[in-house]
Amino acid sequence: MTEQKRAVILVSGGLDSTTVLAMALSQGYACYTLSFDYGQRHRGELLAAERVSVALGDVEHKVVKLNLDSIGGSALTDLSIAVPEEETQGIPITYVPARNTIFLSIALGWAEVLGAHDIFIGVNAVDYSGYPDCRPEYIAAFERMANLATKAGVEGQKITVHTPLMNLTKGEIIRAGAALGVDYALTVSCYQVTEDGLACGKCDSCRLRRQGFIDAGLEDPTRYRRYPAGGL
Ligand code: ZN
Repeated sequence: MTEQKRAVILVSGGLDSTTVLAMALSQGYACYTLSFDYGQRHRGELLAAERVSVALGDVEHKVVKLNLDSIGGSALTDLSIAVPEEETQGIPITYVPARNTIFLSIALGWAEVLGAHDIFIGVNAVDYSGYPDCRPEYIAAFERMANLATKAGVEGQKITVHTPLMNLTKGEIIRAGAALGVDYALTVSCYQVTEDGLACGKCDSCRLRRQGFIDAGLEDPTRYRRYPAGGL
């Protein structure tokens, strides 16, 4: 009997990475899920990451602590920069400097330790075209680097970075996940989610998520904060 192939899956507790985890599981991988406590303001996502990893059936869930708030530079890691609640132009202030390179590098290290040759990340070039580290050419460059930089790569065991969501719209992602039985009520997408998992309904991430459920023709299970009259 051949041993089940292992994969490292980056999970944030959000809709996208949860769908990716479901996809990797459906492809028969033994999934090792990785999250980062990186000083993000939306701490509720760490709880969600743990929740979805357990619910979907990973082998092991690891949280690596990184104090990216010590360098700041993003509305997600610097509390003095507000999360925009309206659409903005160009690369948004919620971009975290070099985040995917930092995250993928740690995923690569863990993959090498585990003897895994596959890494899954839920980047998407359709809805987040403003983020330079979500583009296919970036992923191709990282994969090439990964194969140059590791013992596994040098010894001929190719490392692949899988991005199954790259060209899907949010609605298509939700439909794909729902078909795999994902319970999106477990996930959290809001950039400023409360400790108990209530979404703001106003940030970029909330808006995209809400539109995704509308496009998918499915009910949005997100729990939103209550606003006084005139709010949501
Ligand atoms: Zn939000």
